[in-house]
Formats: sequence, C-alpha cells, structure tokens
Amino acid sequence: MRKKIIAGNWKMNKTVAEAVTLVQGIQAELAGCLDVEAVVCPPFTALKSVSDALADSQIKLGCQNMSDQDNGAYTGEISHTMLRELFVKYVILGHSERRSYYGETDKIVNRKVKKALANTLRPIVCVGETLEQREAGRTEQVVEEQVRGSLADITAAQFEDVVVAYEPVWAIGTGKTATTEQAQEVHAFIRSIIRDMVGEKAAKGLRIQYGGSMKPSNAKELLSQPDIDGGLIGGAALEARSFIDIVKAGM
Ligand code: PEP
Repeated sequence: MRKKIIAGNWKMNKTVAEAVTLVQGIQAELAGCLDVEAVVCPPFTALKSVSDALADSQIKLGCQNMSDQDNGAYTGEISHTMLRELFVKYVILGHSERRSYYGETDKIVNRKVKKALANTLRPIVCVGETLEQREAGRTEQVVEEQVRGSLADITAAQFEDVVVAYEPVWAIGTGKTATTEQAQEVHAFIRSIIRDMVGEKAAKGLRIQYGGSMKPSNAKELLSQPDIDGGLIGGAALEARSFIDIVKAGM
C-alpha cells in the first residue's frame, strides 16, 4: 500500500517571517499527521527557519532545486550537504519552470537525481507535456522521454526513494486541471514505463503525484484514482487552510 504524499512547492514566495507563519499554521493541524506524508518546500532562504519550526513534527522538509555537484566554484548553487545539514528530506527536481526558464534538460535532471539519491535525499522528479504537445497527440512520447531520461540508470532499489510528479505544464498555475481520467491515464502509463525499466516491484511501490492546479475542491477525486499517490501543490500550498484541506483529502 503506497502512502500518499502531498508536497507544497512554495516557489519564489514567502519571506522568512511569512514562511514561519505559514508552516506554523500547517503544523497546528498536521504536526502529528501519520496517514499522509506532508512535505513543505520553501525557498532556500527560509529553509533554516522552517526546519527549526518543524522540529518534532511529522511534516517533512523539502526544497526546490539542488546542484549536481558536491562543492566548489559553482556560484549561486546549493549542495546536498548544505541541504542535509538543515534536515531537508526531499528535493524537487526538473520542475517545468526549471526546464523552461533555466534550460534544465533530462540529462541535467538525471545527474541531480543521482546526486540526491547518493546522498540520502529523496528526489521528486517532475515530468509533463505542454498544451501544444498534448494537442499534437504527443503526451505519451514526451512523458516517456522525460521519465526514461531523468531516471536513467536508477536501480530498482533506489526507486524506493524516488517520487515522480506528473505535472501537465498547461495545468500549472493556470486554474486548469487535468480531468481525473486524463491524469489517471498518464499516471498508469508512467507506472508501466517504470515497470519496463526496473520491474514490477519497483513500479508497484513508486509514488506518483499529480500536480497542476490541485486544490481542496478537486483533490479528493484526483487522489482517489488508483495510480495517483499524492499531489505536488503550487498556488494552493501558499495558504495553510487550503494545503491542510488537500492533505486531509488524501486521508
Ligand atoms: C507546481 O508548480 O508544481 C504546481 C502544481 O503549481 P499549481 O498548483 O499552482 O498549478
């Protein structure tokens, strides 16, 4: 039985003070939550304060990117050691905003995934098609390419620490959500690719999140699909009430 995982991607939002207020609000209802794994991914600048606020909590800490290098002359980058020092457990990799605005390719994402796994950080690996690609009937081709490329050379055992997020780009921040059927279909497809890559056991155990305008009003239906094991939440994670309600929809 796969435990559902709901992660809030705060993106480039929240000052330190705002981040602490938000996480305290979430903590007030979810600190002891064991039924669903709840993860918050603040910006780097707020990680230390949010990490301190989460001490003794069941809520996990994540971040939104990570260097594929260990240390050294990489101006502006953040390493796995720096993240682990702050008790970060999850790292979102290959988000469509990183792919489209910062040129992250599957190869780069793959290097980061390997670096994360080698250093006990759990990657949340994002894949998803654009509207143009969907309308051209290329959804499966694009998603398969991203899954195989971003997760190349990952072993079945390593997959236990991997989460995949299916995020149709046209649904991110747009208010448009994939229908439950559209989402379930792609999730099942992703699981079938993983089965082909590393076998049945790893495919069965893999958690696949849906991301793209998930909110309290649509979360329950999406999360009740057989291959949808959680959500990666953008806009609705910036407010405690809506994030809590989405986590509760997964219980
Ligand atoms: C995201 O950016 O990962 C996301 C799903 O955003 P939103 O929920 O705002 O669509």
